[in-house]
Amino acid sequence: MNKTIGLIGGMTPESTILYYRTLNKLAASRFGKIHSCNVLLESVDFGMVSKFQKENRWDLLNEMMVKSAKNLEKGGAKCILICANTMHLAIDEVRKYVKIPVLHIADATAIVIEKTNLSKVALLGTKYTMEKTFYKDVLTDNNIETIIPHEADRDRIHDIIYNELAFGELNPESKQEYLRIINELIEQGAEGVILGCTEIPLLIQQEDVSVPVFDTTTIHATEAFNQMVNE
Ligand code: GLU
Repeated sequence: MNKTIGLIGGMTPESTILYYRTLNKLAASRFGKIHSCNVLLESVDFGMVSKFQKENRWDLLNEMMVKSAKNLEKGGAKCILICANTMHLAIDEVRKYVKIPVLHIADATAIVIEKTNLSKVALLGTKYTMEKTFYKDVLTDNNIETIIPHEADRDRIHDIIYNELAFGELNPESKQEYLRIINELIEQGAEGVILGCTEIPLLIQQEDVSVPVFDTTTIHATEAFNQMVNE
């Protein structure tokens, strides 16, 4: 069986469900249909997360993530996943307080992109993920160049995440907006697209897009599972 995977979830519950489903599918395909994945979940209140984000209280968000990580370690988890790209802003702080590995979602994504030999990809996510450097830097370190939409489109992408996808609302018009933005980025030279927000895979799938799509939710969960499988 796999060693217990600790999830800091609830950011949002919709994407935590995707992590849980992916991990259980991986366990079933690896160990047989009846099997499921050993998981420990610390689910935080997204109302508080989004409030602190808006207020720029990354100090309080760090505390929140550290507290959850400590609980997971105490509870027996053997690794930790922060189940949101944005909240990887707290990963350096979290790593100071736990001994178990905290697997970075952008590292896992870079490994997958490297295998495809693409060098320039579009990055979609919250404004924090698209505009701050914490995420792009990991990709740059792996020789992957990222491009992001222009400001008005970044706002659209962000608002759809917080006002629709966070609640599991999937609107056809929003999907068309995402595809329009993705196609513009492809025209600007993007050879692939990172779905750098763990809810975006609810709306956009590989079959919708003409270039390779990197679903960070699935990539992150798969990396953790592979690392936590006991041979
Ligand atoms: N789940 C999202 C992400 O991957 C957004 C929610 C959040 O701000 O944590 O970035």
